[in-house]
Amino acid sequence: MKNTSLNADRRTRELDELDADPRVDVLVIGAGVTGAGVALDAASRGLSVVLAEKRDLAFGTSRWSSKLVHGGLRYLASGQVGIAHESAVERGILINRTAPHLVRAFPQVIPLHPSVSAKDAALTRVGLLAGDLLRMAAHTSSATLPRSRRISPAEVVRHAPTVRAAGLRGGLMGWDGQLNDDARLVVALARTAAGFGAKVLTRTEVKQATGAGAVLTDTLTGRSIDVGARVVINATGVWAGELATGLTLRPSRGTHLVVSQEAFGGLSCGLTVPVPGHFGRYVFALPAPDDRVYVGLTDEDAPGPVPDEPRAAESEIDFLLETINLALASGLTRHDVLGTFSGLRPLLDTGSGTTADISRKHQVITGADGLITVVGGKLTTYRRMAQDALDAGIARSGVACGPCRTTTLPLVGAASRAQLGAVRAPGRLVHRYGTEASNVLAVGGPELNRPICGATEVTTAELLFAVRHEGALDVADLLDRRTRIGLSPEARATAVAAAEAALAG
Ligand SMILES: Cc1cc2nc3c(=O)[nH]c(=O)nc-3n(C[C@H](O)[C@H](O)[C@H](O)COP(=O)(O)OP(=O)(O)OC[C@H]3O[C@@H](n4cnc5c(N)ncnc54)[C@H](O)[C@@H]3O)c2cc1C
Repeated sequence: MKNTSLNADRRTRELDELDADPRVDVLVIGAGVTGAGVALDAASRGLSVVLAEKRDLAFGTSRWSSKLVHGGLRYLASGQVGIAHESAVERGILINRTAPHLVRAFPQVIPLHPSVSAKDAALTRVGLLAGDLLRMAAHTSSATLPRSRRISPAEVVRHAPTVRAAGLRGGLMGWDGQLNDDARLVVALARTAAGFGAKVLTRTEVKQATGAGAVLTDTLTGRSIDVGARVVINATGVWAGELATGLTLRPSRGTHLVVSQEAFGGLSCGLTVPVPGHFGRYVFALPAPDDRVYVGLTDEDAPGPVPDEPRAAESEIDFLLETINLALASGLTRHDVLGTFSGLRPLLDTGSGTTADISRKHQVITGADGLITVVGGKLTTYRRMAQDALDAGIARSGVACGPCRTTTLPLVGAASRAQLGAVRAPGRLVHRYGTEASNVLAVGGPELNRPICGATEVTTAELLFAVRHEGALDVADLLDRRTRIGLSPEARATAVAAAEAALAG
């Protein structure tokens, strides 16, 4: 692998190179998880690649997810066995091979209070057992993801100390994968692609594209480059309809609340609370970095123009608090909410009644002009989406290349669990940077490896590393994507000065 560092100098140099020779095998538009995945697949097959992103890596939906690497149990419940199996296979690839540093095995507990009937508890137990079968069918061992089981009331409270003990008759525990952070997965994908020679160009917008190329505009300078490509892949997520004629999306908004770990008394599992009257629908609380807990998730139709950053509706905040409070000894209030974040699912409009009914199966659509659009799917299945989209482009264009390698290709920082355990750096850094954690420490002395302010564990060294190696170009890149300090507006305000200093070098 060549140089995986992304930074302002490399970006300028590569734009100049592209201007001088604007022909490329594969042009990928949009650097969310899907586009970054396509760029890595194509570059690692030996193709020349440009990844053009209007804003920043993970600017869109990919940073607003629940950060879960799903086994697809939910799809199994609705009889979609194919998608469920695909998700479970991709989960195994991420957790064992491609990103073991970023994805951890994660227990999730459903507390059994009187509001959960014996029948619903039994059906849920059957669902979790089906999840175990799915894991086995995907060849993921119980050493990686333990079997589901019933647990005692005491064990529920040990994992989730603020759960109401009154009437608690135990809990059901299942295991899935949890990402340290979704935006970090995108950055790792883009950098690994860059290591195979892909030109990763942020602040580079495409206004129109065909199957033969597109005009790229550097939004920092206004310079435009007319790029010709053998394959053009539109991976712009919820914005895909702006480039692909005739494609209609039906975005669905999902909202999370950001709460402090203190309010949950030190939650060590996912706390999954059934929504009364809707069997199979849950609100969950997920422990997150920086002593936070994310409480999600809603599924709301979001018609109209696509905003850059979707906002939570007041009714969503109320719904999430009311539902999670059903399981807690003392309820959370709006005072406990440090921030909210909302993302739009890029669902294809299939005319279904509600957005929850629309299939999450991804689609690869080739337009009349040859532009290939890949849309839908999940963060978990990005690799398969990328492979399917690229295979379609290769078949159409006849461009010669090697086979897909991404099922076994470690992302930058990845290594076996034993190797990760031997990295001489704090565990927090190893979960974010893998084997590169020691490089982050080496950015400077102890003063650079201290938290930048009281509101976060993020250090000055991490900010400098993001500027030098992870393509961060401004304060928002640093605070809202390379780190997630910005998920709490109050914490963000205290961190701006440190981000400005890091950008100044
Ligand atoms: C609330 C929520 C929770 C979710 N939770 C999970 C989960 O826990 N697990 C899971 O597996 N999946 C989850 N998903 C699904 C998952 O997040 C998405 O399927 C996935 O992130 C979509 O990625 P994408 O790359 O296709 O789109 P995006 O991430 O939106 O990327 C598109 C990119 O294209 C860029 N772009 C747009 N127009 C242009 C243009 N003209 N020129 C250049 N660039 C352009 C944008 O700036 C953006 O960066 C969740 C989704 C939501 C909404």
